[in-house]
Amino acid sequence: MHYMQVPSQVEYERATSVEHALSLLNRPDTRVVAGGHSLIPMMKLRLAQPEMLVDINGLAELAYIRLDGGQLRIGALARHADLLNSAVAGEHFPIFHDAERVVADPIVRLWGTIGGSLCQADPSEDLSAAFAAARATVVIRGQDGDRMVPVREFHLGPYETVIDRGELLAEVRVPVQSGTGSAYEKVARRVGDWSVAAAGAVLRVGEGGNHEPVITSAGLGLTAVGAEHFVAAEAEEFLVGGPADEDSFAAAGAIAAEHCRPVADQRGPEDYKRHLVAELTARALRRAAARAAAPNSGPNSGPNSGPNSGGART
Ligand SMILES: Cc1cc2nc3c(=O)[nH]c(=O)nc-3n(C[C@H](O)[C@H](O)[C@H](O)COP(=O)(O)OP(=O)(O)OC[C@H]3O[C@@H](n4cnc5c(N)ncnc54)[C@H](O)[C@@H]3O)c2cc1C
Repeated sequence: MHYMQVPSQVEYERATSVEHALSLLNRPDTRVVAGGHSLIPMMKLRLAQPEMLVDINGLAELAYIRLDGGQLRIGALARHADLLNSAVAGEHFPIFHDAERVVADPIVRLWGTIGGSLCQADPSEDLSAAFAAARATVVIRGQDGDRMVPVREFHLGPYETVIDRGELLAEVRVPVQSGTGSAYEKVARRVGDWSVAAAGAVLRVGEGGNHEPVITSAGLGLTAVGAEHFVAAEAEEFLVGGPADEDSFAAAGAIAAEHCRPVADQRGPEDYKRHLVAELTARALRRAAARAAAPNSGPNSGPNSGPNSGGART
């Protein structure tokens, strides 16, 4: 038997400006190509057959990571490696460094982009859960201007987003808040592999009514386990107003495991994935809380920083 592993014929244009890209994207069956690490393999397998590719790799104005107006702003063309190496991102959101350490391998991370990761809308993308936990907003650019969409409303389902014809993802914005700690925990079968399951947590601890420390906001993202919009909403609700302690973290993990919808596949059976969700959620919360308590001790502060769940490192 002979299997074809080449894409069908496709037109190709290299965008010279964002305006140029947007005008090209108005044509039917046209797709952006950024790092190409997801789109090109899909084209080779004929799972995607666009008539035209608009290459945005020349658009340096979409490749940045900076702090601005109380928000971390990440251009869509920033690479995974840029986020991994960004001191400002690591300082405010160690969850992104945790996640990037275990996204694929260094070669994929050098080319794969933040925008491509979110737009691919693969249920196993690590950054979708990390940004959902951090309650990020995406900036979608069209010829009529920008629209802001909470990342928790950006994905419509597997491989589907709210981006329309003639639009591209321009930026991801993450609100920076003091007293916040965050972490990401993933289990994969081998270094560089996709998640069997993963959990991200962003916690803010403040003062409760009786001046005792309580969780004032909680963001929980889940990867690869069928969580709606990558979010463990019931566990978030449970945490807010309660203490940041082991009992709360274990209970939140159990709630997250109960409400997600993993499916059995080559990465494991459903009950194993639920077990991982409970354990990884509790671990991510524990590390996030420790980081919230020690915010100034460096980009990767907190217990177990560094080597992370057996993932690839640079
Ligand atoms: C071997 C391998 C292992 C991997 N392992 C992991 C892993 O462990 N965890 C993980 O999270 N990911 C993993 N990935 C996926 C990778 O992180 C991203 O999916 C990939 O980098 C997507 O980014 P890209 O820039 O290559 O996107 P592309 O392939 O260029 O594009 C992907 C999709 O997004 C669209 N798109 C891209 N940019 C924009 C934009 N700015 N606006 C609108 N649409 C856009 C494209 O049209 C296409 O539909 C792996 C990939 C490979 C090849």
